[in-house]
Amino acid sequence: MDPQDRFAAAREKMVRDQLLRRGIQDPRVLGAMWRVHREAFISPGQADFAYRDAPLPIGHGQTISQPYTVAFMCESLHLRGYEKVLEVGTGSGYGAAVLAHLSRQVYTLERIGEVHENAARRLSDLGYDNVTAIHANGTLGFPPAAPYDAILVTACGQELPLAYRQQLIDGGRIVIPLGEPGEAQRMYRFTLRNNRWHEEDLGAFTFVPLVAGEDGEHQGE
Ligand code: SAH
Repeated sequence: MDPQDRFAAAREKMVRDQLLRRGIQDPRVLGAMWRVHREAFISPGQADFAYRDAPLPIGHGQTISQPYTVAFMCESLHLRGYEKVLEVGTGSGYGAAVLAHLSRQVYTLERIGEVHENAARRLSDLGYDNVTAIHANGTLGFPPAAPYDAILVTACGQELPLAYRQQLIDGGRIVIPLGEPGEAQRMYRFTLRNNRWHEEDLGAFTFVPLVAGEDGEHQGE
């Protein structure tokens, strides 16, 4: 164990109590959650809360997802390591870092310029060279790198954007929270197999909204 890693015990406890005990089983996902230092993705003043069983604010009204939610979504994508993945909603960059351990290449989109810049700098400083962070409206997907083996959406919309269906390979998976404003949100997995879509409801979760449009400057942040 790295003596400099003062959060090692807290991280190990998070993996055991928040993930394993709640049913996360994929050893690759558990390993990635153990490797990524969540404290590096929040403001230094909040580091002591890094392994809390909760989302945390990262500014601009946005949050870093709860560890369990990140692990659950990653496990639901059934990644084996060879995939090209699109993440919509970079936020802190934490989810992208976990995906970077689980797949070959990650493209991650963030609509708020400053949130994107902070995450891009952080991911690059941490050496995640298989993550490309892009400042863009994610409801359109990212055509230049399509098609993707998997698409992960970390903000809640009302329906699955058509662009995601068009940018997925046959055999691919999309995991996305969906819900009407003010109503309970549920996680869904859409799988494309032999040109047919299969839809599964994976249960209840809570996310910030997936906002259509270019940037956050007009959102009153
Ligand atoms: N995966 C992130 C969680 C981020 S919260 C993490 O691990 O920290 C969701 C993020 O999605 C927010 O930063 C929000 O600004 C962003 N977002 C919302 N709508 C978006 C859109 N249409 N395109 C790109 N990003 C969007």
